[in-house]
Amino acid sequence: MTKKYTMTIGGEPVAADDYTEIRNPADTSEVVGLVPVGTMQHLEQAVSAAREAFKRWRHSSDQERVEACQTIAKVVTDNAAELATLLTQEQGKPLKGMGSEFEVGGCAGWAAYTAGLSLPMKVLEDSEASKIEMHREPLGVVGSITPWNWPLMIAIWHVVPGIRTGNTVVLKPSPFTPLSTLRMFELISAALPKGLINVISGGDELGAALSEHAGINKIVFTGSIATGKKVMSSAAPTLKPLTLELGGNDPGIMLPGTDPAPFVERLYWGSMINSGQTCGALKRLYVHGSDYDATCKALVDFAGNIPMGNGMDETSLLGPLQNERQFKRVIELVDDARAAGAKVLCGGKATGGSNYFYPVTFVADIEDGTRLVDEEQFGPVLPIVRYSDVDDAVRRANGTIFGLGASVWGNDSDATAKVAARLEAGTVYVNKHAEIAPHVPFGGIKCSGIGVEFGEEGLAAYTSIKVINAAA
Ligand code: NAD
Repeated sequence: MTKKYTMTIGGEPVAADDYTEIRNPADTSEVVGLVPVGTMQHLEQAVSAAREAFKRWRHSSDQERVEACQTIAKVVTDNAAELATLLTQEQGKPLKGMGSEFEVGGCAGWAAYTAGLSLPMKVLEDSEASKIEMHREPLGVVGSITPWNWPLMIAIWHVVPGIRTGNTVVLKPSPFTPLSTLRMFELISAALPKGLINVISGGDELGAALSEHAGINKIVFTGSIATGKKVMSSAAPTLKPLTLELGGNDPGIMLPGTDPAPFVERLYWGSMINSGQTCGALKRLYVHGSDYDATCKALVDFAGNIPMGNGMDETSLLGPLQNERQFKRVIELVDDARAAGAKVLCGGKATGGSNYFYPVTFVADIEDGTRLVDEEQFGPVLPIVRYSDVDDAVRRANGTIFGLGASVWGNDSDATAKVAARLEAGTVYVNKHAEIAPHVPFGGIKCSGIGVEFGEEGLAAYTSIKVINAAA
């Protein structure tokens, strides 16, 4: 019988009246599990449980908070095999390579690292006139809304800094990939005080209700720009602080005279990681005319060596697109580019059958102004755009509403540094792309987001500043 998963509210497993099927994108005839359809009542219960737990957790000692984050890391590690398998089945990403085992390992690593971060009280002045201290206080109940591409890792990024700083959490996972998140926090919650982390599954309307709820003190949201704007507007009446990690359309510029050979593997995985379904992946590559043909050939040759298939097959390094909406969008963008006269160098046609596999596709002879270059494709498709002048390439790279990441590639470190300084993005990489780490703040500028995650700067976003200004 297909397993019914449960929500977690106040430390207890909670069932729903209705369930929907979650199917495997590598074989849509396979039902992976049944997800409870949470209601507004469940949302109210989750917010109440989190508020109740906050009454005590806000006064927890630093040591208790560190230990809670370490417990999260340990529970994830102890259950890594089960979580990785479930993640592969519902999300489609392979178990191996930069797939589910990598993602679950990242969850444990991020939780353990964040446990060790702290924001101690600062003395701002200690004079004959005054003693002024700055304290960091928890905000209250954090509402977390997550997407379907890296569901476990992003949930951990939202939840752990919240717990570390004395907040409690209500989390709503994406309706496309809820099962692994429900299971992970069922396991984690059993090892933590009741009500610290509450997880409710259901439709988009729960996200909207969470964003506007007066009992929620902050929203951390990762998802599309369109939904980010809705979250910001629902959160406005209660003036909630927001962390918004939104979409990207990261450009990469290969400087003139750059041999692609030493960079091809990094270029490939920088764009194809998670079959391109990664916010900070390389999504358009600008290559100088003198190196254009060699770079296109190097990428196509490399692609031929990377197996795509059902993620449970341990030889697969790439999986399918996660859902039908995304699958249709990628088909549409490649067809549109082809109709505009672009040349599909490899791939370019869905594999067929009851699945969402789309092959790795490199598209050449394509210009800005084509949807595949201007929009976020979020699939295993990279447009390679020819340029003749570096200033023009920088202008085109920056000429967008997006500002998550960007990269510059070349052998002359002075030249790459000059271009890096001119690229407009939250992260500019040199000779690499799509690398993140728990000690390095990560976030977007322009429409790619507000605020950062990770490091002390990310942690601070879960606190308010309280100054105590005493006459000496
Ligand atoms: P999405 O915006 O469609 O959905 C994200 C979440 O928002 C889901 O849980 C959804 O149920 C919820 N939601 C939908 N409508 C809502 C509303 N009105 N109010 C509140 N919540 C609502 O995004 P997606 O398709 O799941 O994810 C893909 C997008 O996420 C891409 O654009 C990608 O670039 C972006 N992303 C960004 C980052 C980052 O760190 N910057 C990381 C991963 C993904």
